[in-house]
Amino acid sequence: MTETVVIVGGGPVGATLALALQHKGIAVTMLEARSKGSAYQDQRALALSYGSRVILEKLGVWEKLDHQATGISSIHISQRGSFGRSILKAKDHDLPDLGYVLSYGALTQALDEALVAFNGINVFYEAEATNIDPASENARVTFNYQANLQQVTSKLVVLADGGRSLADIPGISRQTKMYGHDALVSKVECELPHNNIAYERFTPMGPVALLPNGARNFSLVWTGKQEEVAQVMSLEDDAFLHQLHHHFGDRVGRFLSVGKRLTFPLKLSYLSPVTAPHLVVIGNAAQTMHPVAGQGFNVGLRDAYELAQQIASTPPADWGRDSMLQSYQEGRKKDTKRGLMFTDFLVNLFSNDILAVSGLRGMSLGMLDLAKPIKSGLIRKMSFGSRG
Ligand SMILES: Cc1cc2nc3c(=O)[nH]c(=O)nc-3n(C[C@H](O)[C@H](O)[C@H](O)COP(=O)(O)OP(=O)(O)OC[C@H]3O[C@@H](n4cnc5c(N)ncnc54)[C@H](O)[C@@H]3O)c2cc1C
Repeated sequence: MTETVVIVGGGPVGATLALALQHKGIAVTMLEARSKGSAYQDQRALALSYGSRVILEKLGVWEKLDHQATGISSIHISQRGSFGRSILKAKDHDLPDLGYVLSYGALTQALDEALVAFNGINVFYEAEATNIDPASENARVTFNYQANLQQVTSKLVVLADGGRSLADIPGISRQTKMYGHDALVSKVECELPHNNIAYERFTPMGPVALLPNGARNFSLVWTGKQEEVAQVMSLEDDAFLHQLHHHFGDRVGRFLSVGKRLTFPLKLSYLSPVTAPHLVVIGNAAQTMHPVAGQGFNVGLRDAYELAQQIASTPPADWGRDSMLQSYQEGRKKDTKRGLMFTDFLVNLFSNDILAVSGLRGMSLGMLDLAKPIKSGLIRKMSFGSRG
């Protein structure tokens, strides 16, 4: 009998794993709670590193996405009220781009379309997993499908549900730190063209990121304390744009229009080493990071790609055994930890209003701008994770 990997959650991370396994001829059953295509209009802007592009190229998906992605050729980092600033440029680090901005919907659609070309995959849409029961020989998933509770067992179940649904699984324990901050995301049009420059500006309220998205627009990620974000969220468009200009400064001229605004709470969350047999957790379900450095999604994509390599190099009879699970967790530990620590460090450094810390920040940005080896190291790690 052919062994089948069961993936719970067909978001970008789960679908990337499914595709990578299909390329290796490994059968997959994927359960996705949403209906097919319902995420295609999701305009959420994902920031992809150059390394994530390489993964999607290897899986044959990037060619479908290239024209929908906006390249980031430089990142301009600055602090409000300070002269310190740093500019990272792709050409200084022999990369075609530092990263890309792509909508969640476009990526999900391209992955789904790529999966259709394979016949070793069975996708159940509107199939919501309600329980995962890891046992010594396999793991059993119970799911709701067409108004019936059904079950599927596998030597390897992969949880990629974004961390939103299945909280109580034996052998999984999640550590969560709520920042008490929200992210406000939207699209804005500015007076000046973006020239493929992304801006990260640290303000007393919190970091504001503007990522070039499309011919003229930027995706905005404005983070701050929940009550402060709620206040800017409640403003009429004109007052909101004025406030944003006041916060961000003049680098892109005036802000002309803003799209639909959404907010979501920010947290740092990660798993203690998973002890459940026959179960692996990847993507946002495994770790959730503050969006300050655009790391979270890229770490999740590397989870999916590395797990596919691990599965392919393990005999199916050993899938989900301790040795395989430990080897996967060991392999991913450094990358995940680095992403979590780096983003948490930035959040703490840049949300500290003590004058000395503020001066230090300006100085650090100025020094970073002079120190090419430090910049190169940073770019490599942000692009390729712990293998950079
Ligand atoms: C509101 C919001 C806004 C965000 N905005 C940004 C942004 O602007 N920029 C950015 O870079 N990142 C953003 N992020 C983070 C980004 O969305 C994640 O990094 C990325 O989506 C992680 O991918 P994933 O596949 O791990 O999880 P998800 O994208 O969450 O996918 C999980 C999938 O699992 C399915 N699922 C869930 N439960 C079950 C179940 N029980 N059974 C079956 N299927 C299930 C879901 O329907 C979904 O399709 C945002 C996150 C949120 C929550």
